[in-house]
Amino acid sequence: MKAAVVRAFGEPLVVEERPDPEPGPGQVRIRVEASGLCHTDIHAARGDWPVKPNPPFVPGHEAVGLVEELGDGVTHLTVGQRVAVPWLGRACGRCEHCLSGWETLCEQQINTGYGCDGGYAEKMLAWADFAQPVPPGVTAVDAAPLTCAGVTTYKALKVAGVRPAQLVAVSGIGGLGHLAVQYAKIAGASVAAIDVTDEKLELAAELGADLVIDARKDDVGRVLKDHGGAHAAIALAVDDAAFAAVNSGLRRGGKLVMVALPAHGTVRLPIFETVLNGTSVIGSIVGTRQDLAEVFQLHAAGRTRVVHEIRPLRSVNESISDVLRGQVRARIVFDLGMGW
Ligand code: NAD
Ligand code: ZN
Ligand code: ZN
Repeated sequence: MKAAVVRAFGEPLVVEERPDPEPGPGQVRIRVEASGLCHTDIHAARGDWPVKPNPPFVPGHEAVGLVEELGDGVTHLTVGQRVAVPWLGRACGRCEHCLSGWETLCEQQINTGYGCDGGYAEKMLAWADFAQPVPPGVTAVDAAPLTCAGVTTYKALKVAGVRPAQLVAVSGIGGLGHLAVQYAKIAGASVAAIDVTDEKLELAAELGADLVIDARKDDVGRVLKDHGGAHAAIALAVDDAAFAAVNSGLRRGGKLVMVALPAHGTVRLPIFETVLNGTSVIGSIVGTRQDLAEVFQLHAAGRTRVVHEIRPLRSVNESISDVLRGQVRARIVFDLGMGW
């Protein structure tokens, strides 16, 4: 099988021929149909974060494909079934976090495309208990972005406790943001969408944003305050300053939900305003298997629209450059059916 491999941080990925991986107990081998390009894969390939993967590794945690072989003990999946393999490749199932509905915080977790090989390959392994069945009617290329961009933003809105009639600011209308706008609308909120390119702002309006803010020329905090201030701000832009900007647009009692992970990211927050205004800062990391099941359920019911550009996996290096230049319509999805 072929796989796109990070051999060294900051270097182009290299396509390698590898033997098909053999599923161990509790695992399945999947023939990958589609793999989304999350900005996290770019951080992984560049070694951007304090906890780094170990090259060589295969990125990709928005993988969708068909189960090809069952490892020992796997009884609940069938060969030929379509499943999605998310960032949460496995968790221990026994710790405080796993047992209290917060498996995403498990200290023993293994992350797909980071701590084990991911979906930029024709075949991959997954732990069967964490491979999420994709409902009938949801295509592989739609399921892929939902597997990280979808579940992450759906969870961020849950964490923010968004309710109808609230104002939600979505900062960064990329792969994650274009779905965040839709989940906020589903929750009944009004949405202020913030970005730095005309195309992303147009897309946000097309997807139902009530207000668009161009961070290149508008004062984000002031515009939000002019609309009463945001009850929740979902920070998805890979830019430290964007976090502080959207935080300054919170109303009293508002919540800043940090999701994006810029390299060496730090934010200076004013203590006085944070205390007096009673605002909160919350980190939010992906979502649970149940969250992903709900994301798929909403999509199967026709409630969300995935905006993607379908490309062959051989375009991985130029695709990464295009994402970094902001020249992508929401999400790039590699279609493994397009060959090499
Ligand atoms: P993306 O590149 O598709 O989207 C980022 C968007 O931010 C782009 O539309 C870009 O134009 C916009 N942007 C850039 N500068 C801006 C600014 N100053 N103000 C407003 N918008 C600006 O990236 P993505 O795949 O959506 O991922 C976003 C971030 O979220 C990445 O850092 C990624 O690693 C992280 N992420 C976190 C989690 C989590 O669980 N916390 C999960 C997935 C991704
Ligand atoms: Zn991701
Ligand atoms: Zn655990």
